[in-house]
Amino acid sequence: MSTADASSATNRGARLILIGPPGAGKGTQAVRLSEAFGVPAVSTGDIFRSNVKNETELGLQAKAYMDAGEYVPDSLTNAIVHDRLQEVDAAGGFLLDGYPRTTEQVHELDRLLEEDRTALDAVIQIVANPEEVVRRLLKRASEQDRADDTADVIRHRLALYEEQTAPLIDVYGSRGIVVTVDGLGSVDDVTERILGALRERGLQSERSVEDASNA
Ligand code: AMP
Repeated sequence: MSTADASSATNRGARLILIGPPGAGKGTQAVRLSEAFGVPAVSTGDIFRSNVKNETELGLQAKAYMDAGEYVPDSLTNAIVHDRLQEVDAAGGFLLDGYPRTTEQVHELDRLLEEDRTALDAVIQIVANPEEVVRRLLKRASEQDRADDTADVIRHRLALYEEQTAPLIDVYGSRGIVVTVDGLGSVDDVTERILGALRERGLQSERSVEDASNA
């Protein structure tokens, strides 16, 4: 069986979004949730970073924005998500990490889902206090050598999140699909909290947190 066959055979079709400030632990949770639900984790930040690393045309266009802690323009960002969600492994479901981040991106995602006659199952909001977030980001900066993790850029990224992205929670909240989870504590605790909150909404993962963390 090919990889695509294997994933569609186990795919329960969850369509999920993770929203939270930079440093809230979205990336770590995205990997685990994607395992738990058998859907691909799609991180726009990772896609941009790999394009920057490989010096593609997209990477060259995105780099200056990323280094400054600015959002990459919606036109570029929407185009990569459009392409990624058309890949076969995303046909039955996906977990978006770091997208949408602007109102225009919400509209684009709505359009894409309408075209496919599908809808989001849940928007997972990870809440983390700003001091903890800055501490985590500075630690990551020294570990991963990320140009967008200097103290000034971190402050800017947090401000941008508050201004442009936090309001999206109300947009999805009015649709009744937001699940809010405290991002403080161990990685396992947070995963367990998210899976518990999703279960309460009738979204059952096919694998437990132990399986997901051992994957
Ligand atoms: P992340 O790893 O999700 O924090 O993303 C790293 C950087 O990539 C962000 O600071 C932005 O410059 C860019 N980026 C990632 N996702 C988006 C998005 N949805 N819209 C605009 N820019 C994005």
